Amino acid sequence: MRIRLALLAAALTLPLAAEPLAVKCGTLLDPGSRVSKTNMKILFEGGKVARVEAASAAAAPPPSSPSKKSSESPSSVLDLSAYTCLPGLIDAHTHLLLQGDATSEEYDEQVLKESTPYRALRAAAAARIALDHGFTTLRDLGTEGAGFTDVDLRKAFSLGIVPGPRVLASGPGMSVTGRYPLLGYSWERKMPDGVLKCDGADDCRKAVRWQAQFGVDWIKVYADGSYYRTPDGGWASVPNFTRDEMNAIVDEAHRVRKKVAAHSMTPTGHRIALAAGVDSLEHGDVLDDETVKTMAAKKIAYCPTITVTDFVKGPRSKTNPIWEQLWAAAQESFKRAYRAGAPIAFGTDAGGFDWDKRNQAEEFSFMVAWGMTPWDALRSATTVAADLLGPHKDGKLGCLDAGCVADLVAVSGDPLLDIKTMEKTVAVISRGKVVKKPD
Ligand SMILES: [Zn+2]
Repeated sequence: MRIRLALLAAALTLPLAAEPLAVKCGTLLDPGSRVSKTNMKILFEGGKVARVEAASAAAAPPPSSPSKKSSESPSSVLDLSAYTCLPGLIDAHTHLLLQGDATSEEYDEQVLKESTPYRALRAAAAARIALDHGFTTLRDLGTEGAGFTDVDLRKAFSLGIVPGPRVLASGPGMSVTGRYPLLGYSWERKMPDGVLKCDGADDCRKAVRWQAQFGVDWIKVYADGSYYRTPDGGWASVPNFTRDEMNAIVDEAHRVRKKVAAHSMTPTGHRIALAAGVDSLEHGDVLDDETVKTMAAKKIAYCPTITVTDFVKGPRSKTNPIWEQLWAAAQESFKRAYRAGAPIAFGTDAGGFDWDKRNQAEEFSFMVAWGMTPWDALRSATTVAADLLGPHKDGKLGCLDAGCVADLVAVSGDPLLDIKTMEKTVAVISRGKVVKKPD
């Protein structure tokens, strides 16, 4: 019995290595080199790409049985010769623990009425949707009152306990007293917080250490809120952290080798976040010339999250017209950043919109509609996002060369001609396992 328990324990702590798998691709797009090749074969082994080679016609499996074969068999072949293959996609801004919060009532209801175990189950369902849509890696930026549940999800997905993408976790986001929901309740009530709050440089430094203790990969900070128009027609917001607090957070995070993602909507927040040395700006609905110039020069990523801006502008405009104005500003900001050459990392804020109502891949269409080339949009969700995330123990992200992680997505048609094709995945491979295949 003791031996059996030991074996079970070992099985639960070691990820199950996927069996070797060969995938035939009709077209293979490499966003890194902007090269498209036809009739290629990729061999996955041990959770990584072992090699990529031309698929010889003679070695092609018959069109019927082998393509349906399970990846469990060592001789598995997945025939995607009718489709276009790309590296597994990266969404660099998600909230697995949120299921849509277009209004504050929706947010409060999840934090107040749903237990953390229930929210974790919903997150596992959301993760499955992300995989089906081709997103094999997520940078999850805040659990919104669910503590370090994203760290638990990262572990469960990595061990194969339930299927899910590779997660880079950030635990609870960080803000200051009085500046993040839950807000608006009686002062007699002690309400839960959607973030970890800290006040003063030393307290914020300690908060970063606390986050690191529980295993986050990233630190997420809310640099600003309460966006408003200035009398001269410009934009401003209320900064959450003082310069001292923000400097302490970024310094401490970098000291323990964690990167910092800053929610920052207007130049008020950008100035403080960029001066402190954050590694990415989230949303950035209002980017001025100075901001994009700094981001381009220092290679600081901008994560535009257009899909969520589109999702919330209707419901939120009913109580505050600023949200419609932010939509127009976001479009100008995106073009300004793209022109300036700032790195644009694909991020949608999925969870801010319901996972089952909108497809994260809609972000591609917004980017292309706002002037990005299809190749650059694909690079945004692969090589650019991979650069932002940095080295990963699983292998290189956002690519399909030898040594890259065994993540692949296949679509029907050519995304370079019609970017909406990215919303219709036909096959997905995650960590060398087939999680979706053609009917
Ligand atoms: Zn977010």
